[in-house]
Amino acid sequence: MKEIILAKYGEIILKGGNRPRFENILMSNIKNALRNVAETRIRLAQATVYVDVEDSGMIDVVMERLSKIFGIVSITRAAVCEKDIEDIKTTAREYLKNDLTDGKRFKVEAKRSDKKFPLNSPQICTEVGGFLDDEFEGIIVDVHEPDVTVKVEIRDYSAYVYADQNKIQGQGGMPIGTGSKATLLLSGGIDSPVAGHMIAKRGVEIDAVNFFSFPYTSERAKEKVISLAGIIARYTSKINLYIVPFTEIQLQIRDKCPEEHMTLVMRRFMMRIAERLAYDHKSKALITGESVGQVASQTLAALDVTNSAVDMPILQPLIGMDKLEIIRRAEEIGTYETSILPYEDCCTVFTPKHPTTNPKRENIEKSERALNVEELIEAALANIEKIEVYPD
Ligand code: ATP
Ligand code: MG
Repeated sequence: MKEIILAKYGEIILKGGNRPRFENILMSNIKNALRNVAETRIRLAQATVYVDVEDSGMIDVVMERLSKIFGIVSITRAAVCEKDIEDIKTTAREYLKNDLTDGKRFKVEAKRSDKKFPLNSPQICTEVGGFLDDEFEGIIVDVHEPDVTVKVEIRDYSAYVYADQNKIQGQGGMPIGTGSKATLLLSGGIDSPVAGHMIAKRGVEIDAVNFFSFPYTSERAKEKVISLAGIIARYTSKINLYIVPFTEIQLQIRDKCPEEHMTLVMRRFMMRIAERLAYDHKSKALITGESVGQVASQTLAALDVTNSAVDMPILQPLIGMDKLEIIRRAEEIGTYETSILPYEDCCTVFTPKHPTTNPKRENIEKSERALNVEELIEAALANIEKIEVYPD
């Protein structure tokens, strides 16, 4: 029996005149993601992407890949049949025999996008439901609380049959490439990878930047950041990761600024350097992983001080989330296990004992005057390492 994958997309449908452009981007993202995975034929019609996998043994692998592509809301495998009610019935009997087992409650739902099909949707339901009820011992029709919903879709070239509960959820969101580009400040922690995923989900391409204080932070800490970028890249395809040498800046801050201002001065350097990089690479916003009140540098006053170092919009998608919600997201997207590996981050190497929680811009700016800010930024930018990270 011929099987195919039906991947349905969501929000793009609302895009009116832009819809064809968004559909093209989605199609090309799918082709890219599957290129080295399996031989497939892909076409799009009626808010559905049809993925025909040459080797049916690869269908599960392909479905798993599709479940990471933004824009797709659900993915299912379905049996392909003739647009003929008898073929639909016998195909359903064969295809669903492992789902319609003794004692199962079921109903049939039909959708007829081809209005030339001789039966309307209620008639299809009655025909197929009655047939299955006769053919399988001990199954019970239950339209209110079915265990199995048998879906019959009459589409352009064929009809399709599947059991609704075998469908898997997609990411939702918008296809990458529909929303320009933003630069993620990616630490090795739990929060920033989640922040990056959330913005990418809105269709935004992601560049990442990490501030790295060798030898205070180790090569293994860098490997960890690269792994995290690789996990985010599962959803976005390639990520350009820029590693910025940060040791000199941190040492100077430690030596020349009041201890309680250290963290915020450091954060302002990060923002400025990320902004320069973003301009250079045509990125339109910065992304960070802050959430109000999580640590001393994330009070509203501290965020004001940090963010006022730059002009570019700063996206902070976790701003109103609790730590537990963020952890749950990190687990879902697959970054949590890597984030909790115990390698140090440059933020944790030089931490003041008593950071200010209610800082004022002018006081921090005054502390910064002890440093040659421009020269330090230039020196850091001159020694950036670029790593192209592919999905792991
Ligand atoms: P995370 O869990 O993302 O590390 P955090 O709770 O540790 O965040 P902070 O240390 O205050 O919070 O950092 C706030 C944000 O600044 C991070 O979410 C990240 O976007 C950015 N950031 C912090 N350290 C680095 C770094 N070494 N390289 C790049 N970005 C960083
Ligand atoms: Mg951190």
